[in-house]
Amino acid sequence: MRYLILSDIHSNLTALEAVLAQAGDGYDRVVCLGDIVGYGPDPNQVVDRVRALDPVAVVRGNHDKAGCGIDDAEDFNPVARDATVWTREQLRSENLTYLRQLDRGPLRVGDFQVVHGSLRDEDEYVFMPLEAQQSLEQAEAALVFCGHTHFQGGFVLGQDGGIEVLEPSLGSGAASSDLPLEAGAKYLVNPGSIGQPRDGDARAAFGFYDDRKRVVEYWRVPYDIKATQERMQQAGLPEPLILRLALGR
Ligand code: ZN
Repeated sequence: MRYLILSDIHSNLTALEAVLAQAGDGYDRVVCLGDIVGYGPDPNQVVDRVRALDPVAVVRGNHDKAGCGIDDAEDFNPVARDATVWTREQLRSENLTYLRQLDRGPLRVGDFQVVHGSLRDEDEYVFMPLEAQQSLEQAEAALVFCGHTHFQGGFVLGQDGGIEVLEPSLGSGAASSDLPLEAGAKYLVNPGSIGQPRDGDARAAFGFYDDRKRVVEYWRVPYDIKATQERMQQAGLPEPLILRLALGR
């Protein structure tokens, strides 16, 4: 089975369409790691598109919870909160219902698990090796996909108990990089963010996983950032959110 792994789309339809065009029909199933909405200008179109893909698993992100009113966005910064209020006003009732029924995670899919933040807390940001190690020690599968940080990469916990950072090194402009999984090691893999990358590469980030070959693929694809920025401007979304798309920060 070949899985297309989508994360942190954040209401950016142009970026999502670029990813799906690149992916073509080169996958069997779709997995979504949450934050379908928030920040971007196309909440309904993106939820519609994700629903139409009929993912085998979707976990909810903090922005999905805030966007559909499960959470109040109290802990969001003012800019994120403004975008959340706007998103909530835009979402059609069936899309609000869809977001409200999303699972918390971790979810098991085939031989891997999926979470938004981490295994122990759906809202935890895993930036540091120690956090990744503590999360992976709880893993029931040798492979866990997470989103939330908007950083493509992840961590590997070796058989000897040592933790290492995974660096896909696509910063040079390469389109993809393979990560063959070693037996006995545990992996926490972040495919990166489609709609609002923060790792310095403004291209949309996503991944594939082939469970027969046991290979994860990290991918980046350019998209029309200006088109998304223009729709954000028209919607009156906060300027810092518009500017950061072009920086990938
Ligand atoms: Zn996010």
